Amino acid sequence: MSNQNYIMEILELKDNNIHFYENCYYKEKMKGFDCKVFEGYLSYQPTHCYKCGTPFDDLFDKHGFITSNIKLPNVSGFKTILRLHKQRYLCKHCNKAFTLKSTLVNFGCFISNNTKWHIAKDLLKKRSEKDIALDNNVSSNTVERVMDSYYDTTRICKNYLPRVLSFDEFKSVKSADGAMSFHLCNDESGKTIDIVEDRRLFSLMKYFSYYSYQSRSRVQFIVIDMYSPYVSLILKMFPNAKIIIDTFHLVQLISRSLNKTRIQLMKKDKKNYNKLKRYWRLLLKDYNDLNFEVWKRFTCFSSLMTESDVVNFILNLSEELKNSYYLYQRLLSAFKSKDKLSFLQILNENHENISDYMKTSLHTLIQFKDFILNTFDNHYHNGFIEGNNNFIKVLKRIAFGFRSFRRFKARIMICKGLISHSKKVNT
Ligand SMILES: [Zn+2]
Repeated sequence: MSNQNYIMEILELKDNNIHFYENCYYKEKMKGFDCKVFEGYLSYQPTHCYKCGTPFDDLFDKHGFITSNIKLPNVSGFKTILRLHKQRYLCKHCNKAFTLKSTLVNFGCFISNNTKWHIAKDLLKKRSEKDIALDNNVSSNTVERVMDSYYDTTRICKNYLPRVLSFDEFKSVKSADGAMSFHLCNDESGKTIDIVEDRRLFSLMKYFSYYSYQSRSRVQFIVIDMYSPYVSLILKMFPNAKIIIDTFHLVQLISRSLNKTRIQLMKKDKKNYNKLKRYWRLLLKDYNDLNFEVWKRFTCFSSLMTESDVVNFILNLSEELKNSYYLYQRLLSAFKSKDKLSFLQILNENHENISDYMKTSLHTLIQFKDFILNTFDNHYHNGFIEGNNNFIKVLKRIAFGFRSFRRFKARIMICKGLISHSKKVNT
C-alpha cells in the first residue's frame, strides 16, 4: 500500500481526489493545543462551471489554490486537521473563478462530515452536549445543528398505539408548560412511545385527539398511578381500555401514610423519639417477614430482643399507630396475594381510631376501587416506565439540566433509539 492509501485509510477519507504530499504530516500548535496536521491538495477536472453551468472546455484555466483547515475526528487523542489546498478554476465564459468541491466537507464548511458522523454517534450515548462538543473540538451550537440535521425529531407515528399502555409523569425543564411532563410507554415491550410537555388534562386531550379513533380503540389496558385526570382522560379518549392501578403506587400510598403517622407520634413522644426514628424500616416490613427467632442487641434498647419485639414495643406506644399498622399490614398482604375478597372487606369495614393520614389513603383506595380490582386480575405494572423515567433523570443530571423542552425531548428520544437518523451513521 502506498503512503497515500495508508493515510486515506487511517483518516477514513473516501474522496479519491484528495492527494497528499511527500512530507504531508507534521505537528503544530493551534490555540495552545498540539495538533496533528496532514497536508494535501484537492484537484480534479470539473464537469462544468459552478457559477454559470457551462460544460468543461478549453476556456477553463487553473487559477491557483485556496487553503482551508478541515477538522477531522481525533487521532490517538490529538486534535487532527487536514490542511487542504483546493484547486480553483477560472471560467472565461462568465469570467468568474470557483473552487472545487469535496465529498469530505459541505460547501463553505470547515467541519468534516466524518466529524459530524462522530457527533451523531456520540449523541446516542448518555453524555452532555458540552462534553460531546469538547471531544470533537466543535462548539455546542454545532452539536445542536448536527442533531437537527441527522435526526428528524418532529416525526412520531400517530397511527398506531399498542395494546397495553402505561402513563407516568416526570419533572422536566423549567421552561416547560405545566410543572410535570407526561410520559407514554408501551407496557409490553417497555419502549417509550412519546413525551408530552404538559400533563394537564386539556393538553393531553388535545394530544390524544391527534391519534385516530381506530388506534385509540385498539388499546385494551392502561396502567396509571392514582392521578385522577388520567382517569377522566381514559374514559373520554380510550373507549375499550381498562384502567389498572400500578401495585407499586398502591403500596407507596399506604406506606407513606403509615410513615407520616409514625413521624407525627415521634414529634409528640420525645422520650421514645430515637426508637421511633431508627426502626421505621421494621414497621414497613411485612409482618410475616419479621424475624422472631434471633435474639440480638438493638441500639436504643437495653435488653436482647427480636425484630418482632421491637415492632411490638413501638406499636404499644400509641393505639392510633397500632390500628394504622394493622390496617397497613392487611392491605399489604391483600395487594401481595391479589386477594380481592379481603381487599373489599377491608374497604367495607368501619375503621376506628386510625390516623388521619391513613383515613385519607383509605378514601383514595375507595375512590379508585374498581380500577384496583383490575390490578388484581392482570399482571401489568409500571416497572418499565419507572425505569425509563430514571433514565431521563440521569440524562438530565448529566447535562446539568436542559433549557428547552424540545431539545430535552429530542435527546431522550435519540438516546432511547426511538428516532433513527435520517443519514447513515457509521457504527
Ligand atoms: Zn462560468
